[in-house]
Amino acid sequence: MVFAGGWTCQVCWKSNRPQDPVCYRCKSRRGLTPDEAEAERKALEARAELPEVVPDLVVALPVVIFRGYARAWRRGGIGILAILALEVFGGVHNVGALLVTGALGFGLVACGFAAGEVIEGMRGREVWAFIFGIGLSIIGVIGSIAAFQVLAPGLIHPTAVRWGSLIVFGGAGAAAAAGLVLLFLRRDRLASS
Ligand SMILES: [Zn+2]
Repeated sequence: MVFAGGWTCQVCWKSNRPQDPVCYRCKSRRGLTPDEAEAERKALEARAELPEVVPDLVVALPVVIFRGYARAWRRGGIGILAILALEVFGGVHNVGALLVTGALGFGLVACGFAAGEVIEGMRGREVWAFIFGIGLSIIGVIGSIAAFQVLAPGLIHPTAVRWGSLIVFGGAGAAAAAGLVLLFLRRDRLASS
């Protein structure tokens, strides 16, 4: 479409209305010289090739936090299993304490490896991965509270168990939830632009 008395953008060749001070499409100034237009075109191309750094970082942050948790869970689990071995060889005969140590150790290692799968999904911006990540941390919180209550009631104060579980597992869930929210916010922005 060409407007009566309008002007043509020297950068993107869009026709603009006479009253437009800048190009409607690419925001270039009216009446650029060919050299200026060329420079403007190059700048536009360079901008188009830039990755969307900030939103990517924002979505990547939960992944980084989750990866930190996954590593901590695996190492913590292996450490707890080592304590279990020490307990067994050290002659600890409290079955409840041994069971809770073993269950926590194996549970942590399992969560750590499951989280590894989740992270792969998160990097691909798969919604299921974030939901699974939240689920994993909820299972972790409930599982570790239940493990202490069932296997070794009274070993550690229930309030301490609850807060400890929430801190150890809840942070990962919060990170996954934040990632999920950001994923949808970003999707909205992409859809509206
Ligand atoms: Zn233009």
